[in-house]
Amino acid sequence: MTDRTAQLIACHECDLLQRDIQLNPGCYASCPRCGAVLYRNATDSVDRTLAYTLAAAMVFLGANVFPIFSIEVQGDRSAITLFGAVLSLWDQGMRSISLLVFLTAMVAPAVELVSITYLLLPLKLGKVPPSYPLFMRVLQFIEPWGMVEVLMLGVLVSLVKLTHNFRVIPGMALWSFAVLTLLLAAAAASFNARDIWGQMDARWKEQAPQ
Ligand SMILES: [Zn+2]
Repeated sequence: MTDRTAQLIACHECDLLQRDIQLNPGCYASCPRCGAVLYRNATDSVDRTLAYTLAAAMVFLGANVFPIFSIEVQGDRSAITLFGAVLSLWDQGMRSISLLVFLTAMVAPAVELVSITYLLLPLKLGKVPPSYPLFMRVLQFIEPWGMVEVLMLGVLVSLVKLTHNFRVIPGMALWSFAVLTLLLAAAAASFNARDIWGQMDARWKEQAPQ
């Protein structure tokens, strides 16, 4: 056992102080008083999160490049991308909605994907990225703001309403956003902050000059 056995942690549910012990892969520690899960040993957390994130990054690119949907009026078809929709909302005076869509469906997922890749790709290669505590905090801050699923719901509702008046053709980006929602959820679920902090700190201590 290493010096980690000497560390004390508090249960997030009942504040009971207990020793932080090393677990076997796949096991989890629970609080003896309230039964809350304290932490897990998710050994393949880095690999899985990285795989989901890289897949999500490619899908995210497609979701922004391709049109969300096209509208056909009297034989004329016009397609709109997400950014086009943001600009159109802005021009129509709906600036707060435009800004909200831009931040929650474009900026937040982009920052999330870039931060995870920045943190985990070097870690996978056995290196520690500079300023990793800052990026870990950015990730923690930005995660609740990524609301691609809310955007999906909004787009679907407007599509249903529009089909009463026009012929609406769902675009490639709509399917991309649906897949992105699943991939982002999978990446968030497999990202084990405790494990990644532990690995970063261990590598940082190895690399630091003695
Ligand atoms: Zn407890």
